[in-house]
Amino acid sequence: MKLPYERPTLRRLTAGTLSKFGPQAGAGVRPVAEVAGASVPALLAQFGSPLFVLSERQLRRSAQALRRSFGTRYPRVQLAWSYKTNYLNAVCRVFHQEGAWAEVVSGFELEKALGNGVPGHHILFNGPSKTAADLARAAEVDAVVHLDSFDELRALLAVAAGRPRPVRVAVRVNLDAGLPQRWDRFGFNLENGQAWQAVQQVAAAPDLALVGLHCHLGTFVLEPAAYGTAAAKLAALAQRATHELHQTIDYLDLGGGFPSLNTLKGSYLPGPDLVPDLDEYAAAVAEALLGAGFAPEALPLLVLEAGRALVDEAGYLLGTVLATKQLPDGRRATVLDFGVNLLFTAYWYDHLISPVRADAGRPEPTVLYGPLCMNIDVVRETALLPPLGPGDQLVVHRVGAYNMSQWQQFITLRPNVILLDLQGNSHIIREAETLEYVQQPERVPEHLL
Ligand SMILES: *Cc1c(COP(=O)(O)O)cnc(C)c1O
Repeated sequence: MKLPYERPTLRRLTAGTLSKFGPQAGAGVRPVAEVAGASVPALLAQFGSPLFVLSERQLRRSAQALRRSFGTRYPRVQLAWSYKTNYLNAVCRVFHQEGAWAEVVSGFELEKALGNGVPGHHILFNGPSKTAADLARAAEVDAVVHLDSFDELRALLAVAAGRPRPVRVAVRVNLDAGLPQRWDRFGFNLENGQAWQAVQQVAAAPDLALVGLHCHLGTFVLEPAAYGTAAAKLAALAQRATHELHQTIDYLDLGGGFPSLNTLKGSYLPGPDLVPDLDEYAAAVAEALLGAGFAPEALPLLVLEAGRALVDEAGYLLGTVLATKQLPDGRRATVLDFGVNLLFTAYWYDHLISPVRADAGRPEPTVLYGPLCMNIDVVRETALLPPLGPGDQLVVHRVGAYNMSQWQQFITLRPNVILLDLQGNSHIIREAETLEYVQQPERVPEHLL
């Protein structure tokens, strides 16, 4: 396609920006009139603005790419889809069709996974907040309880007593993998001996069956080597369990935390230039596990609970300009019909945002505000965009992770979410909310009627 003519311009480089390869150098300026093969104006006309769009093709591609990265380096790999990252049933079902188990962190998510047809024994139950009823339900459906604390272990022992079969358990471990930030509030610490204590207690409990060891290092972890360290440490713990307690560990679960191609705020380079390839993570993990001294026929299953790395790329948020303003300091500001109510990840990322119209003119720094009556509703502090006016449309890229689970019904209603299938057909997978839907759980006391 021939690109439209753009008048050449001289632009002064301001302090803090990089060269022409840096984040300010025009990222987002390229117009995008289609997402996943569908016309943006046509989608907005049909389904309203704003609109979340998910590409089924990209969901499947990402799952296949992750499996390929790890599966070509290690013989036994299993994905478990992280429900909280995006638990719209259509999304979960695409991943389950691609062979993923479910990774859940609440009773609500456990029921969602069962409702999506995931057999209980393919559900891994993480998180610090399992109630006695949740534990009983997990035991009933044969899900694996990933233990978070000694108190939870005690609660589970009470639930497990007298059941026809032992409750399957994995011990969640937190450890020093060389990362600056340690998620040591979850699970049992390795270095201070708690993890080993937990392994011993589970192994000694006749009502429990120790099947796995788990470790989720963090999120958007940019250090592949950290996964190698975590894998080596979990493998050593598994071998200790085998040698000292005659306990075989079926699986080592390295959690999620693999980055997407988004650009973290304050990042010095855009995501695509900075984020290591999944192959690097896979190589670090495979090397650690294959070198850990397991007999070839006794290699544990490697479980991965990737969330954002699987779904972020497949999601788009389409929206429309409501108004433009000039701020007192001279900057241009644009008010959009979506804000941090829908784009929770705007707090973390400088999302790539593209204009739809090709002939909008010379890009300049623009503040992007959402529609909320809240000062914190900033979609981007500064984006390089051509001058846009009311009715102009925009595409926000890589929004599949966490936004459709952490969005808020605040001030206004949440919009349609559609899935574009492999044939390019669009399906509403979550309907735009209505006043009636939001008010359905409300009750007005008699004296206020
Ligand atoms: C949130 C979470 C994941 C997924 O994390 P991502 O950073 O989205 O990959 C995996 N495992 C556990 C235990 C989690 O809490």
